Amino acid sequence: MPDAALPTIALLATGGTIAGAQTGEPSGAYRAGSLPVEALLSAVPGLQRLARLQPEQVASVGSQNIGLDTWATLVERVQALCADPSIDGIVITHGTDTLEETAYLLSLVLPWSKPVVLVGAMRPATALGADGPANLYNAVALAAHPQAFGRGPLVLMNDEIHEAALVQKMAANGVDAFASPNGGRAGTVHAGTPRFVRPAGAALPARFALPPRGDDGSRDWPVVDIVHAHAGMDGAVVDFMAARARGIVLAGVGDGNASDAVLDALERAALRGVAVVRSTRTGSGWVGRNVEVDDDARHFIAAGPLSPQKARVLLMLALAAGVTQAEAQALFEQA
Ligand code: GLU
Repeated sequence: MPDAALPTIALLATGGTIAGAQTGEPSGAYRAGSLPVEALLSAVPGLQRLARLQPEQVASVGSQNIGLDTWATLVERVQALCADPSIDGIVITHGTDTLEETAYLLSLVLPWSKPVVLVGAMRPATALGADGPANLYNAVALAAHPQAFGRGPLVLMNDEIHEAALVQKMAANGVDAFASPNGGRAGTVHAGTPRFVRPAGAALPARFALPPRGDDGSRDWPVVDIVHAHAGMDGAVVDFMAARARGIVLAGVGDGNASDAVLDALERAALRGVAVVRSTRTGSGWVGRNVEVDDDARHFIAAGPLSPQKARVLLMLALAAGVTQAEAQALFEQA
């Protein structure tokens, strides 16, 4: 019987490997998002000693299929839970592939008040040594912890706490796939005890609203594409993207760079009003203005510390909010 004095934690399930069931024996094949939230909870002994849980199934998908509509549904649900005084914290189970994008989106559209913790697993729930149950236990402990307030959405994987702006899936396999290469992890959780390496900030209001609704009632997300640079590249893909996108993010080589042909195509796009952001395909570091590429002359925005996939999230919200190019540059520098 749950203790009425315990914190109440909403548990929103979206699918992913943490809810994955193997489809055959030793091959490693499995289907993400197969198990309902109740099955996840029943695999974690002791959860009811940490919190009173309020489970909800928001989606049942691998996170490669988390689309813009699911994002909007999830954001609206979490916004409502943040405003609900009977809820002390929120845990979201999520596939690991795009977990960092959802975490970063939430960090931009939610107030940084009560704890929101995203958690996944690298091994399916039916695998030997499944990491999901321990991750879920530690995520609930983190969401219930007083020091988790005022940090924005957090990610819990492999006993580590990561901040939404910094966290990144760095490897395709392995329980240690997540890291925060530009700033380090925010702390650890061992056997349900969180320890932070830096103090929390103040509770902040949300920085962005979701994009407004279009005529069909769904959110009008601006199209922002990502183009991945490589050696010997021409501008054809950029020209193709520029015909439909309101924004293009360059996953550039090195310091957000690309061949002259690609930079020229991006400049053509920028002159047509497409917002062009330069990020890096390297996985870490800071892309600054006017270092090797003349951003002033070419009308580009430098992504600062944001990965291409997070730069895309920020650019979509910024374009939907109607920010100018100069305002967008400042947003990326503060990201
Ligand atoms: N591709 C699936 C997803 O992102 C499985 C990966 C995972 O959850 O670790 O949901």
